Amino acid sequence: MLKYTTHILLDSYGTNSYLVWDSESKEAVLIDPAAPSKQLAMKIKSDGLELKAILLTHGHLDHIGGNEFFMKEFNVPLLIHALDAPMLTNPTMNLSAFTGEEIVSPKATGFLEEGQIIKLGEIEIKVIHTPGHTKGGICLYSKGFLFSGDTLFQMSIGRTDFPGGSMENLERSIKNKLFTLPEDTLVLSGHGGTTTIGDEEVANPFFGFNK
Ligand SMILES: [Zn+2]
Ligand SMILES: [Zn+2]
Repeated sequence: MLKYTTHILLDSYGTNSYLVWDSESKEAVLIDPAAPSKQLAMKIKSDGLELKAILLTHGHLDHIGGNEFFMKEFNVPLLIHALDAPMLTNPTMNLSAFTGEEIVSPKATGFLEEGQIIKLGEIEIKVIHTPGHTKGGICLYSKGFLFSGDTLFQMSIGRTDFPGGSMENLERSIKNKLFTLPEDTLVLSGHGGTTTIGDEEVANPFFGFNK
């Protein structure tokens, strides 16, 4: 069974980092580690989880600051869509250059692409490429759960005014690839609270009135 916990490792941005695991096999992935956290590393170890990879929904500064720490701590691959991979090592592209504290992550060790399946024991997590917030933005879907990064939020959608952003692409991604998922799918966003696909289809102000 899929289990997850939510961790805010970077208060200034309130980014939701997610630890996701299979309760049977104890295999786990870490989604968007926003900052180093000895506490979270200790929890992973003390819970007996086997961390398999770090998965990134996109390359912005507030989702990647813990990459180096967790890669070293667990010796795991770092995976991101190829179109966002250059952002990891480029503070201008990951926007940290504009904050006074440049973030340079290790390079990706592999790429996530549309339709790819990541397996944790019997659990399948599917990569959905959802360009719009960034070119290489992805969501991760496993029956009942969607980790939506900065693509879809509770009653909101991601910003499209950063380099690589496109409102047209974001709307298309959400309509065609997310709103086609089961209505009871729990949406776990990169920031803010949880919602469901059904609630967003009906009431998201960027879409609800179009239906
Ligand atoms: Zn972002
Ligand atoms: Zn973000």
